[in-house]
Amino acid sequence: LYPYEMNIYGDTGNVIALRRRLEWRGLGARLDPVPVGEPYDFAAADLVFGGGGQDRSQLQVAGDLQQRAPAIREAVAEGTVFLTICGTYQLFGRRFLTQDGREIPGIGVFGLETVGGRKRMIGNVVVATPWGDLVGFENHSGRTLLDPGQVALGTVKKGYGNNETRRDEGAVTANCFGTYLHGSLLPKNPAFADELLARALRRRHGAGFELKPLDDS
Ligand code: GLN
Repeated sequence: LYPYEMNIYGDTGNVIALRRRLEWRGLGARLDPVPVGEPYDFAAADLVFGGGGQDRSQLQVAGDLQQRAPAIREAVAEGTVFLTICGTYQLFGRRFLTQDGREIPGIGVFGLETVGGRKRMIGNVVVATPWGDLVGFENHSGRTLLDPGQVALGTVKKGYGNNETRRDEGAVTANCFGTYLHGSLLPKNPAFADELLARALRRRHGAGFELKPLDDS
């Protein structure tokens, strides 16, 4: 989703990692780039990826994203796997108030809001999750506050995560994941990459589908 508009800090590397981990197992993948204005049927997707972007890029995609909101919300409800990073993660919440006072509406997949601050949260991050410790790099001005009841991706062991006051990082709704971790995230965290692939493949081929293990040493 928005491969040209929302792609910083190597976020497209996540797509390359997913494709390679499928290919190493003899599985194929078709990649459909969905830029602003390109019609797309989200019901056809197994896994949707959206990367980070600065406030200006977020403003550029916000209108297009609103038009896709019903289809995306339906896909999330039906269990399609989504991975959203930083700028796209923020837009999957209700809204982002930028530090220069603009309100960018989100699509409300996650129960959260983001408010820009003057200090950027930059640096390496370690997050404890049910899939082990995830490592990554964050760089954002937005502080994200989860609604009560919104499940986080994990707990920050090093770095900021969603904000500088609480220790939660990211959000999870059904099979839709949001996180501040760039890096790229998935090449650095192969177990999490496989979690996403396994969820997508089980949804299509049944709960018994097992991914062949890879040597990640
Ligand atoms: N523009 C957003 C912020 O600064 C997201 C930045 C990003 O995707 N790294 O909070």
